[in-house]
Amino acid sequence: MKITEKQLEQVNSRIKALVSAGSFYGKKLKDAGITEVHSYEDFLKLPFSEKKDLRDAYPLGLMTAPEEKIVRIHSSSGTTGTPVIIPYTAKDVDDWATMFARCYEFAGITNKDRIQITPGYGLWTAGIGFQAGAEKLGAMVVPMGPGNTEKQIEMMISLETTVLCATSSYALLLAEEIQKRGIRDKIKLKKGVIGSERWSQKMRDRIHNELGIELYDIYGLTEIYGPGIGINCTKEAGMHYWDDFLYLEIIDPKTGEPVPDGEMGEIVITTLVKEGAPLIRYRTHDLSRIIPEKCSCGSSFPRLDRIMGRTDDMMKIKGVNVFPSQIEEILQTFPEISSEYQIRISHLDGKDTMRIYVETTGDIDFDDLSKRLTEKVKSHIGFTPIVKAVEVGVLPRSMKKTARVIDERYNED
Ligand code: ZN
Repeated sequence: MKITEKQLEQVNSRIKALVSAGSFYGKKLKDAGITEVHSYEDFLKLPFSEKKDLRDAYPLGLMTAPEEKIVRIHSSSGTTGTPVIIPYTAKDVDDWATMFARCYEFAGITNKDRIQITPGYGLWTAGIGFQAGAEKLGAMVVPMGPGNTEKQIEMMISLETTVLCATSSYALLLAEEIQKRGIRDKIKLKKGVIGSERWSQKMRDRIHNELGIELYDIYGLTEIYGPGIGINCTKEAGMHYWDDFLYLEIIDPKTGEPVPDGEMGEIVITTLVKEGAPLIRYRTHDLSRIIPEKCSCGSSFPRLDRIMGRTDDMMKIKGVNVFPSQIEEILQTFPEISSEYQIRISHLDGKDTMRIYVETTGDIDFDDLSKRLTEKVKSHIGFTPIVKAVEVGVLPRSMKKTARVIDERYNED
């Protein structure tokens, strides 16, 4: 999708701010001798930015607005190295809430709804983003934060919560608990707004069926405001994103060249109006595609397909490139398998091997199921995995993100 005149103007204003603040990207632009862009071709010459650049700027090297205008920082979790600190101005915080409120509206949520928020509060952008958007919408917020399932269900019943905001793992955990206790008729939930991890159609179907609610995927990342920069509409066909705040490109992750609309590639985001820490051509490493057709809901906001994986999720098994989403797609064709699975990659006898654990009910022949699944992976992807079927409930559940792909090759002697 080509950049518009208006968006180019906005990019120019961000370039000006970045250069005059002397932040990391400002220096990058100065070194490249770029102070303005006048066309799409100019725009494509702008250097990419990466998570590593953001880490190198720790703690406040991204700050682009004057200190007195910064009202808050957020940080991505530092589990894989130096954390990234993103400064926000009051306008950034307000813009984010505006985008998030729009997400709720696209999901048909109104100021009469009661929204129970289970993602975490604190340094990261989850809970507070869900909350600010809901308040902007005028809905009633029940700010629970994560965990304490007992209390979550108690509040859900007493306050007659109509909207659940959660990770898909936690929504599933709650759905299973509600099912187990047989209290579905006491729950008033109508919709779920699900963020922060990739999830399969199967898991979606289970949460949908067990809770009887409509589900909406929210997209976002800490580096770019946080969750709330896009959501699927009631037509459930991809996610609309807000091109008045952001410009999105899809590129070939290997060459860095833009791919035609409709083709799969890496999402690259430019913030158009962000003040605290504007980002230009930020590589998200998320894989998706632009859906070129206009949505049947009538909205002219452009659409992204669901997130198909991460460029760094790509696994190479016996010389074949594999994405977890490809395995998921195959699992979805087996109605007897539950939504939970685990993929383990290890190095056995000098060869890379994939083991796939799936859950099923006791009335299914485990060996037969394993055999059929093995054959399907071999014929569709081109290598032979080791498949093991286990009873439903055996694989680990999590309140936050469930690790479904475990690469053991680097932990072995
Ligand atoms: Zn739509």
